[in-house]
Amino acid sequence: MAISDDEIAQVRSATDIVALISETVALKRSGRRWSGLCPFHGEKTPSFSVNAEEGLYYCFGCRASGDAIKWVRETHHLDFVDALRALADRAGIELHEDANAGPQRKERQEFMRVMDQAVSWYHERLMSSPDARVAREYLKTRGIDGNVARRFKLGWAPDEWDALAASLKLSEKDLSGTGLGFVNSRDRRQDALRARVIFPIFDPAGKAIAVGGRILPQFATRADGRVEAKYKNSPETPIYSKRRTLYALNFAKDDVIKSGEIIVCEGYTDVIAFFQAGMERAVATCGTALGEEHFKTMRNFAKRIVLAYDADAAGQSAAASVYQWERQHEVDVFVARLPEGTDPAELAQRDPEALRRSIQEALPFLGFRLERVLAGANFATAEGRARAAELAMAVLAEHPSELVRDQYVMEVADRLRLDVATLRSLASEPRAPERVAARPTPPPRDLPRPGVEALRLLVHAPEQVRERLIAPFFENGYLREIYRALIAARSIPSAVDELEREGHEESAAILAQLVVDELDHEYSAREVSAVLAQLIRSAVNQELRALGHDLREARVTPELAQSTMRDVKERLDLLESVHGDAAEADLRTWLLERATLTSP
Ligand SMILES: [Zn+2]
Repeated sequence: MAISDDEIAQVRSATDIVALISETVALKRSGRRWSGLCPFHGEKTPSFSVNAEEGLYYCFGCRASGDAIKWVRETHHLDFVDALRALADRAGIELHEDANAGPQRKERQEFMRVMDQAVSWYHERLMSSPDARVAREYLKTRGIDGNVARRFKLGWAPDEWDALAASLKLSEKDLSGTGLGFVNSRDRRQDALRARVIFPIFDPAGKAIAVGGRILPQFATRADGRVEAKYKNSPETPIYSKRRTLYALNFAKDDVIKSGEIIVCEGYTDVIAFFQAGMERAVATCGTALGEEHFKTMRNFAKRIVLAYDADAAGQSAAASVYQWERQHEVDVFVARLPEGTDPAELAQRDPEALRRSIQEALPFLGFRLERVLAGANFATAEGRARAAELAMAVLAEHPSELVRDQYVMEVADRLRLDVATLRSLASEPRAPERVAARPTPPPRDLPRPGVEALRLLVHAPEQVRERLIAPFFENGYLREIYRALIAARSIPSAVDELEREGHEESAAILAQLVVDELDHEYSAREVSAVLAQLIRSAVNQELRALGHDLREARVTPELAQSTMRDVKERLDLLESVHGDAAEADLRTWLLERATLTSP
């Protein structure tokens, strides 16, 4: 760990976790606790809670839990140090990493700096350089004016070999590390993109991480007959992962959260078209198919995902994967009803209202696929209808839910004027869906109630129990770990952290749950003693059984065993009496002695 625990604690305490989480989840206050809909699992009633004072969140539904750092890690898919950095930046705290620490991080920072410079340079060229006139004119024909170009920071890569590399004096390492260029066979530095309109790609926080370039039509075929690819994107680099990145998510985020809907396009210009038509919630994949990682990112922001592909492309999406992701990430995938043969960019220019309608009237993914099969059917003949029925049932069979399939069977029967029973007989068994990734493990059942209650007191009313509890009171392994962590750590969040770092994720989750699960009233001294008495009884009885075992194994003399048992039982009886305190103290001593005897 390159960053000191002090600094971690400092970042944590400087972070308002309610404000942080409110950026993506609508939180309502109830008492000292805040609650809202869990971003990690789909739900209709809030089971996600945040404890502002301790800086922890916990979901009673899926058991997602943690502190601000964990939150940033999970929702932004960052590692610990990067999450900490992000929070430090947010809080205006400067971290002092060891001089030799994080060379990779330094390198990434350097690449980000270079990318940022390059994006500004390309943008400047587009906006003011005479040779960019062709690009500006091209963009105008696509309905993109200066304001839009500024908003998306579009750029122009001139038709030169090394304009960027030379102007910014980029090193070989900078070029290859960012994918902005390379060293050619004649050992000269060369730009990766030329004669292209540049679409910078930002991370969700708005930092440039890559660029995509579209060739201008007049440069598409080179003098030597070479045909340039229409789009060329940055390769994978230490700062850019295509699998994870969604173009324009940084711009779309606010509207996506507000509307609960995210529109996924195929191209950068489609995204811009949606923004211009007033739907500022469109993103695009960057030269790769929509995949699992994209879903993981999107589900943090919206539950309704609308694919705005042209119909053929949408029809070709791997249905089995889409259904699997819908289930796994609890999102609903729809397909926009774009007129055949149009893409969003041209529709936005011709008829923005139609583009908006296509999103409003988007069909569920299965409904869309069915629609396509039926649209091609010949309803006039019995053979045509039978063929359509077979195709439709094959499409239906891909969906994992019988309930969903059945609703569509009825619709298909109706449309094709066939009876439902006949149609059902065509239905083949669906292929077994791939196993859905494991949810966080369920809580260990039967956590002993007195132990849980005692820890809840230790968290919420430490002054009442701290001096009275000892580790041997906790027979349950999870609870004992939590107790030890709470006693050793200087704060509750760092106890959670410590448990996680040691791999005791179960215990960390239980502790987080205890933290948000506040006491419903202040406990009187008597109530506290009652909780402790139960806890002690259970621990003492277990130890008496161990003593009986020792006796049978002849590890203690019968006399000693009997007098001990008598003494201990006497004190158990006194626990909730006026002599309770003394009895409790004796039993503590006895259990501690037994613990030192039996531990190696
Ligand atoms: Zn949850």
